[in-house]
Amino acid sequence: MSRSEPLESPHRARKRFGQNFLVDRPTIARIVEAIDPRPDERIVEIGPGQAALTEALLAALDTQSQEHDGLDAIEIDRDLAARLRAQFPPARVRVHEADALAFDFARLAAVRGGALRVVGNLPYNISTPILFHLTRFESVIADMTFMLQKEVVERMAAPPGAAARGRLSVMLQYRYRIERCFDVPPGAFRPIPAVDSSIVWLAPLGPARLQPRDEAHFAEIVSAAFSQRRKMIRKSLSAWIDAPRLSALGIDPEARAETLSCEAFVAIADATSPRGAP
Ligand code: SAM
Repeated sequence: MSRSEPLESPHRARKRFGQNFLVDRPTIARIVEAIDPRPDERIVEIGPGQAALTEALLAALDTQSQEHDGLDAIEIDRDLAARLRAQFPPARVRVHEADALAFDFARLAAVRGGALRVVGNLPYNISTPILFHLTRFESVIADMTFMLQKEVVERMAAPPGAAARGRLSVMLQYRYRIERCFDVPPGAFRPIPAVDSSIVWLAPLGPARLQPRDEAHFAEIVSAAFSQRRKMIRKSLSAWIDAPRLSALGIDPEARAETLSCEAFVAIADATSPRGAP
């Protein structure tokens, strides 16, 4: 069992927790500006680490009002969680020593009495699972602003036809409006990561979003199409649908997965849903 670090010694970054800490002040200021936190909002930070962003968010709230409720912070590293508790009173930062991948954001929204604004410089080794976990809480999230690996942000925002389009693009775009904000170079972090980063903003589309009849079946169709992305969809989806039925839906059977819109995937899923065709 690993022993905890004394609070007064410097923290040694842990690779297994994807720890690359933001040190560049102008970058931190730009992220806070993009988030634009307000005192009456319920801000939740994933992976506060050494509080680079946390402190800047609190300072932005303080300048607007001394009455704000602070923020919630979810940190898996028990040493960093202990440091955060020592650094901030609970009225300013409520530290949840927890795995964000298993965190119940709906419960937190119920406790805080409204929709959450989720922010964070996410650990890159688990960024896709965190994004998928958060989709389960779409209805209690107002928006999300994240730092992620640039290549992941490109995939998240890739439109039909783009080389970066994949399962992640479709599975997020039918739920969220997604905007790439700006890029952050490796030198903004310590230790310096091997990859470029980007800030991305996601806002749930709400009840007006596409509603596949069976979300699990839709996810299965999207996965199958992209698991053989070089193949035409009449081949990769042959277990569910044939070429004439694809054509009847107005979809080219010879198209490749990356050229299809979210609407096309929903049309295929609804036409092949085990719960029955329209
Ligand atoms: N926000 C800090 C910053 O910008 O300097 C730290 C960012 S660092 C890239 C990622 C942070 O997420 C670390 O503090 C790490 O311990 C924490 N973390 C890693 N995996 C986590 C998980 N599953 N749940 C919650 N926090 C996690």
